[in-house]
Formats: sequence, C-alpha cells, structure tokens
Amino acid sequence: MTADSFVIPAHTLPALPVAGTSKTFPVRRIWCVGRNYLEHIRELGNDERQPPFFFAKHADMIVHDGATIPYPGLTQNFQHEVEMIVALKSGGANLDAGKALDHVYGYGVSIDLTRRDLQMASRKKEQPWEIGKSFDNCAPCGALRAASEIGHPAKGKIWLSVNGTERQKGDLSEMIWNVPEIIAKLSLQVTLGAGDIIMTGTPAGVAALSPGDKIECGVDGLPSLRLAIAA
Ligand code: MN
Repeated sequence: MTADSFVIPAHTLPALPVAGTSKTFPVRRIWCVGRNYLEHIRELGNDERQPPFFFAKHADMIVHDGATIPYPGLTQNFQHEVEMIVALKSGGANLDAGKALDHVYGYGVSIDLTRRDLQMASRKKEQPWEIGKSFDNCAPCGALRAASEIGHPAKGKIWLSVNGTERQKGDLSEMIWNVPEIIAKLSLQVTLGAGDIIMTGTPAGVAALSPGDKIECGVDGLPSLRLAIAA
C-alpha cells in the first residue's frame, strides 16, 4: 500500500520516545488493567477477590511528557491514576506467564486519566466504560526505557504529585497480578502484538484534578512524566 492508495491522507502513527536514544516506539493499542493494587480496590469499595479485567484506550489519545491538556468536557470529577506501562515488542495468544517477559520491549510511566463520575455512572447502568476512560488526551505517557538496559522492574516506588503535594504512593511489588501474569491473562482475551502497551493499574490515592493543576509522577528507574491541566 502506498500513500496514493488511501482515499484520505493516512494518519500519523502514535509513538513514544525511548530514553537515551533518538528512536521512538510505535504504539499499536493501549490496554489497561482495572483494579490491580489492593489499597486502590479498597478506596473505590470494590471486591478484593475479583480477578483484574481489561479495557482499552486508543493510541491517538496519547499525550507526551510536558503537555498541557484542556480540562475535558462532560465531567465534574476528572481523576489521575499513575501507572507503569509495559511496551511489547512481540506477542501472541494464550501466552505462558513463564515466558511472557520475552515479549517486553520496555517500561514507562503513564496516567490513566479518568472521568470518574461518568465511569461510575456507566458501571451502575451496566454500560461500557468508554465515556469515563477513553477520551481525547486521556493517556499521557512518558519516555520508555528498554528492558535490555534496565531489566524488568518488579519493585520500586510509584508516585504522583499535584502542585508539589504527593497524592499517590505505592510500590510495584503491591500489584495483585504481576507483569508476566497480566500479559498471560490479557493474551487469553486478545492476540497481543508488537506495539501494544499495557497500563498495569494504579496504587491508592486517586483524586480529582482542577484546571491549572501541575502533575508530576514517576516510577523508580523510569523517566518521570509531567502534565498540566490548562487554567
Ligand atoms: Mn487505571
């Protein structure tokens, strides 16, 4: 297929920078894990014994480190969820957890931005979550670091602050399902492939954002991520 064969101009491939290189990681799909840290399950009043589940955001909803985004429409309760992302260089279906890390290119920091009021309302009505989870600019992502350089982080601090005050704090070791288990589980639902990234769930401390807020977040050993909400 050439550019001439499209009836409208082809869109740009979303991509994440890779720290320490001039290259980028092309993003195919964004998968997200719900309820993967016990304290966050408790703060939302959910069942601790339920297995995690997956939802998706679109790759063109990514915004990069240092971005300023508008406060989104339709919501009165726009919340932050800091999460580590896993970026896949390969994939497959029904993957074995014992070999799942072979498919990982690298790791980064992201925010699963959420219109909490709309998410809760759709949950109550047994409707899909898109209105609360999948909207313009809902997937800020920082630069990746390659697993070939840093290995596979399984512990270390994950945190988020708003206007200099720490709001979220946890440790990767507190994940209920670890990264290999997440990859294996998700590969039962869809065939994973190169370019897929997975947001691995958020620790406790999720809270509302306001216009003018400045957010900073990170995971030990990964490039930090900054985001501002337009005043
Ligand atoms: Mn989340």
